[in-house]
Amino acid sequence: MSPPSQNDDAAAAGPDSEPESAVETARRQLQLAAAYLDIDPNTVERLKHPAKVQEVTVPIKRDDGTVEVFTGYRAQHDSVRGPYKGGLRYHPEVTRDECVGLGMWMTWKCAVMDLPFGGAKGGIAVNPKELSDEETERLTRRFAEEIRDIIGPNRDIPAPDMGTNPQTMAWLMDAYSMQEGETTPGVVTGKPPVIGGSEGRDAAPGRSVAIITREAVDYYGWNLRETDIAIQGYGSVGSNAARLLDDWGANVVAVSDVNGGIYDPNGLDTYSIPSHHEEPEAVMRHDAPETVTNEGLLELDVDVLIPAAVGNVLTESNAHDIEADMVIEGANGPTTSVADEIFADRNLPVIPDILANAGGVTVSYFEWLQDINRRPWSLERVNDELETEMVDAWNDVREEYEARDVTWRNAAYIVALSRLAEAHQSRGLWP
Ligand code: NAD
Repeated sequence: MSPPSQNDDAAAAGPDSEPESAVETARRQLQLAAAYLDIDPNTVERLKHPAKVQEVTVPIKRDDGTVEVFTGYRAQHDSVRGPYKGGLRYHPEVTRDECVGLGMWMTWKCAVMDLPFGGAKGGIAVNPKELSDEETERLTRRFAEEIRDIIGPNRDIPAPDMGTNPQTMAWLMDAYSMQEGETTPGVVTGKPPVIGGSEGRDAAPGRSVAIITREAVDYYGWNLRETDIAIQGYGSVGSNAARLLDDWGANVVAVSDVNGGIYDPNGLDTYSIPSHHEEPEAVMRHDAPETVTNEGLLELDVDVLIPAAVGNVLTESNAHDIEADMVIEGANGPTTSVADEIFADRNLPVIPDILANAGGVTVSYFEWLQDINRRPWSLERVNDELETEMVDAWNDVREEYEARDVTWRNAAYIVALSRLAEAHQSRGLWP
């Protein structure tokens, strides 16, 4: 029942007949959470719709002198709690509807973390691999100009997503700043630290996954030092989560990349296995007693399974075969809605993505605070404050979980929707 992933593979059809679109998932999850709450149906109705969707034409001169025209979007869902916040992706399959759905999903994520932001998502329908760096820069600067009126540090703050990176954000911030006549680092997050990016931003989603795993393990009365963990995906999220959990004494027994995985029942040395960013697709070359397929990794008899690669990997066809005692969603949308129901029937706890990997948007919030205050934080401060925010959010979700006898996913959405509904109620409807 997760929203579709921010990752390109997420949209791929799994064995469940028709994976829902991002909008369908976001609306259904809204409706589900609303059923537990005594809130004004008009508020729910408002939250089903985006506040604004800007569609723009982005023409650029290619390196060979020809002009090519792309379509870009920025969907702003809800800003009752603060400026819109969400990624910008460059991918051939970016659509208006996808931006709307993922923007809604950002609203829930910011609300569950109690960040003073609403949700947005945008992007350009383009294959970034077919552009030179110069073309990507021209595309980004022109796109920045086309959406300049609706973004800004107090309006809407984009961030990197699929196909974009800190350099893209640097160009966007520069283009915006040039037109505004003042350097405005707070217009985007995920920038390089030298121009106002935050220390610890890259590692934050994996760090939050580790923190939430630790809290969940503790909640069920297990000892982290005796907890066997399997992690699918060894990129930013998977490797950072693995290494932190390893530091805290957990046994990370299996990790994988797109080619497959390695398994050591005695625990792997997570630091010596190169992450995707250190050396792409090198997991299988690392010495380990056993190898395992990606499908096999998901079905290992471990205590905790962390899918941290792509969406829709836990499906109707393997949900009954998952032997882990708990799933922590590192990736966005790794569990299809049918699998989610099967896990609920099996009483297998699934800690949802909107909580577990929210360290990324949380440190983006810290970055924004540093930018508007013109005062950088140390890595230690970032990590300390992230720890506090994650544990607070965990406790808020746990309270709903205990009070209402719902799944962890529904508990997280209930926390988010209660906050949104209260803010809407308090502000009222203009005019
Ligand atoms: P990444 O590109 O750094 O790493 C992805 C890893 O998954 C790599 O090891 C890759 O080899 C592996 N992989 C790719 N396809 C696979 C497949 N089909 N099966 C198994 N492994 C596969 O990506 P990331 O930033 O770690 O993101 C992973 C997931 O977490 C995505 O769903 C992403 O949307 C989500 N996420 C990322 C962030 C972030 O800021 N990095 C924040 C929140 C959520």
